[in-house]
Amino acid sequence: MEANKKILLATSNQGKLKEFKKLFRNFNFISQAELGINDAIEDGLTFFENALKKARHGAKESKLFTIADDSGLVVPGLNFEPGIYSARYAGEEASDLDNRNKIINELKKRNLTSLHAYYVCVLVGVHSYDDPMPIYASGKIHGKVCLESQGDGGFGYDKIFYIDNPKTSMASISPEIKNTISHRAIAARSFLLQLEKI
Ligand code: IMP
Repeated sequence: MEANKKILLATSNQGKLKEFKKLFRNFNFISQAELGINDAIEDGLTFFENALKKARHGAKESKLFTIADDSGLVVPGLNFEPGIYSARYAGEEASDLDNRNKIINELKKRNLTSLHAYYVCVLVGVHSYDDPMPIYASGKIHGKVCLESQGDGGFGYDKIFYIDNPKTSMASISPEIKNTISHRAIAARSFLLQLEKI
């Protein structure tokens, strides 16, 4: 795909938008908000279904090649929650803080200080609403959710998600490093290889 082609990025999450614009810096992105497009209804049961729904919705409304992601935090020890419900774990209108507090409360209820967790990102690209051959890629990063919050960067669960060394939260590493190691970065690298071929 030519580098200057206009592409819709079907998300209204500001944290994700910031990261995507850097990850796909050679492309000419326009966001849903800039085109006044509402969010798609996310009623799928998997990250893949929801990413495809968002991409199709964006392409239908914009008539542009559209890339969407569905991402979230998975904690196997909490029945794989919050999973696809990560953005609304503590309720439909929940803030990032509410969602983090819900994880912290779940750990406290179990007398735990941490649990293995991972972030997942699925990216889907479609040329049109009825594109029969969507492009997709996924990425994962493993770590732990902990009781303590640390750092001011990132968004969502980053303040309580610790990578490798339990002393380093995703919110305390630089945006440049996060954008190299994150689930979104891993998915984006694989996605870009495919974009270059079309
Ligand atoms: P989505 O917009 O339905 O894909 O919801 C994604 C949700 O997953 C976000 O609102 C965050 O709560 C969480 N999430 C996804 N990626 C990240 C990340 O990189 N850091 C922290 N939280 C994330």
